[in-house]
Amino acid sequence: MEKLYNYIGGKLIDPVSNTWFDNFHPATGTVYSHIPDSDQRDVQLAVDAAEAAFPAWSTLAAEKRSEILSRLSDLIKRDLELLAQAESKDNGKPVSLARIVDIPRAVSNFEFFATAILHFATEAHAMESSAINYTLRQPIGVVGCISPWNLPLYLFSWKIAPALAAGNCVVAKPSEVTPMTAYLLSKLCIEAGMPAGVLNIVHGLGGKAGQAIVEHPKIKAVSFTGGTKTGAGLAATAAPMFKKLSLELGGKNPNIIFADCDFDAMLKTTLQSSFANQGQICLCGSRIFVERPLYEKFRDAFVEKVKQLKPGNPADEGTRMGAVVSQAHMEKVLSYIQLAREEGGTVLCGGERVVLEGELKTGWYIAPTVIEGLAFDCRTNQEEIFGPVVTIMPFDTEEEVLEMANSTVYGLAATVWTQHLTRAHRVANNLQSGIVWINCWLLRDLRTPFGGVKASGVGREGGFEALRFFTEAKNVCVKL
Ligand code: NDP
Repeated sequence: MEKLYNYIGGKLIDPVSNTWFDNFHPATGTVYSHIPDSDQRDVQLAVDAAEAAFPAWSTLAAEKRSEILSRLSDLIKRDLELLAQAESKDNGKPVSLARIVDIPRAVSNFEFFATAILHFATEAHAMESSAINYTLRQPIGVVGCISPWNLPLYLFSWKIAPALAAGNCVVAKPSEVTPMTAYLLSKLCIEAGMPAGVLNIVHGLGGKAGQAIVEHPKIKAVSFTGGTKTGAGLAATAAPMFKKLSLELGGKNPNIIFADCDFDAMLKTTLQSSFANQGQICLCGSRIFVERPLYEKFRDAFVEKVKQLKPGNPADEGTRMGAVVSQAHMEKVLSYIQLAREEGGTVLCGGERVVLEGELKTGWYIAPTVIEGLAFDCRTNQEEIFGPVVTIMPFDTEEEVLEMANSTVYGLAATVWTQHLTRAHRVANNLQSGIVWINCWLLRDLRTPFGGVKASGVGREGGFEALRFFTEAKNVCVKL
């Protein structure tokens, strides 16, 4: 059975403990590879390697760092098919999705930051004729990047690329649940000629390897994407050490549909925003609010479409709905469907585990589920489920829907469907959310600020925001 290795100091090496744990194939629920069970000793090796690499990497001309990141991007593009297959196998997502979203996005992340760093300028402030201030943006040193399982290479590269472009050296940990493409990336780093120690990838458990990264005194900044509870624990550890922190956390995103919307476009996109990646995208709209005159038409058309969305083998070309990522996650999602029933909800379709045939019968599949009849403030509508489950609710006025939409502790993303120009802008202005899509979903420009408000996170990724996070500003004042 295949073993994965840590990538430290430019080499693929065993964990110090010489122990591994199981990596599962969600489509069949079986073990297919082994992951290093790293601990603080591996993190220490990674920090040592990163520290040693920092002086040369941080002073290398931006053009040279850019060349290496571009080369890495080209290699990911070359291996797109292999990486898409690996991502699908590791995560349970349809290979078609990994091929058009996950891996191309990892290519763009490296490509984008390879060029962004060449255009990253700083400010100067003149004090009439008496003095001039200018700001230096210097790399921080050794930084930590920790990413989740839902978009494994996509989110891993979204952090690593700006950190490296800005001149930092990185100790990174992918989710233990989906480590495979990060491991394949480490091989591509070697091929791309990435200097030893510039990027170090430590595999292992969050509470052990991840925690060791957050606690390490020489890691000066941590960029984290994951659950809100994990993020809170991480902040409690890092804050007394005065580390820079970027936290991209959970969501419970509203999808607000007004009766005057373009119905066909809305229906098509709402199907995606509800169930893409089995609903395991932090940006999925899990609470659908529909203006009352459209409610029944929407409900009937939506449920009919959802019923056609059948979970299948993620490796099959025609599959649009794969397996959820783990047994534990499947059980969590099913327990929320049970909770919804107990809270008085009516399951309009789905609502159960799907058992497929042959070797897939032990895989982790859930039928896409639509629930109505729940109060906006019940637990099902307030807590993050992060699976193929949406609720639908009618509303009468703009004020009412804003109150319901803003009622959760989260504030990551929102979608609004309307042809009414001023209402669209007004609602966007009044939503408590880091991102608002109007008449679209998941349309991403990598230059824009990305992140959430309230319990959805602190700080912004994307474009120059990410380069600002991964650098320290120093003001220099020169008397004339
Ligand atoms: P987790 O919070 O469980 O884990 C995220 C990462 O943190 C994993 O690599 C995990 O390792 C690691 N980790 C766990 N405990 C610690 C610790 N004590 N110290 C350091 N690292 C730790 O999230 P999931 O992987 O379950 O991802 C799903 C969550 O991510 C959802 O809540 C979702 O909303 C959110 N998310 C947010 C996004 C955003 O942009 N705001 C985007 C995508 C997802 P391990 O896996 O080994 O436990």
